[in-house]
Amino acid sequence: QARVKPFRPPGQDGGLLVLLSLHDITVLKRSEQMRADFVANASHELRTPLAALIGFIETLRGPAKDDRAAHERFLGIMFEQSNRMSRLVNDLLSLSRIEMDEHSPPTAEVDVGKIVRNVAATLELRAASRKVKLRLDQPDSLPAVVGDEDQLAQVFQNLIDNAIKYGKEQTEVTVTLSARPSGRAGTVRGPAVTVAVADRGDGIARTHLPRLTERFYRVDPARSRALGGTGLGLAIVKHIVNRHRGRLVIDSEVGKGSTFTVVLPAAGAAAAERRDAG
Ligand code: ADP
Repeated sequence: QARVKPFRPPGQDGGLLVLLSLHDITVLKRSEQMRADFVANASHELRTPLAALIGFIETLRGPAKDDRAAHERFLGIMFEQSNRMSRLVNDLLSLSRIEMDEHSPPTAEVDVGKIVRNVAATLELRAASRKVKLRLDQPDSLPAVVGDEDQLAQVFQNLIDNAIKYGKEQTEVTVTLSARPSGRAGTVRGPAVTVAVADRGDGIARTHLPRLTERFYRVDPARSRALGGTGLGLAIVKHIVNRHRGRLVIDSEVGKGSTFTVVLPAAGAAAAERRDAG
């Protein structure tokens, strides 16, 4: 239990101050706890493939020393486990880099349509390997967005990759870009560009939706790992979208599929919001 020594400025009612400090301590404790959980989760995720690697190396140096067939098989597994660790470390590094510049919004104008087209092109093969058809639907012109090209590419990469991974084989993944002339309640104010990534997979039960962007939160951990997931993709997406003062909206229906929509303020709107903020 936190003990707070109340600070009462002379001649003023200090009640509110005491309340605020208690609240701050609760927030601090929660973020400390989250950080500790994060380190524990990350270590656990790394330890599993590491333990497998050590085990296979021991076997290859000992009992399976002269077994050519075992060498082939074990090296294959070791390669896959090393890739898994590499994906995890890359995602952890991305997350910490994004956290570091979360409070310095980007300043350059970028073409979201071009970024999405490039990402979609790099994912064509992956889609084909799951017999998924990737369809891009975009208007002739879109307003510019103030953004970080590499980070936005990572957002669309993660969302489209998830749609391919969790979508059903032989269905379509549709990426729809549109310009929205004015804001709706609860989303970005003013003109915006929206990118909606829709799949026809199994969908996500409502109870999971609020936690989906938490680090290492997975609906089905075994399935995510088997598909090469790190459990960090959507946490990365959320941080990047926040840095761009945008919104991530998730709609999903069990048995039908999911749509992940990113709403990004158009260049003029972002500048106005920055002026408002400060
Ligand atoms: P992962 O590396 O596990 O895919 P993410 O952070 O990208 O991690 O996603 C978190 C979890 O959200 C996934 O493990 C999966 O359970 C769920 N998820 C994400 N995208 C989809 C989708 N398009 N359809 C169904 N479930 C999804």
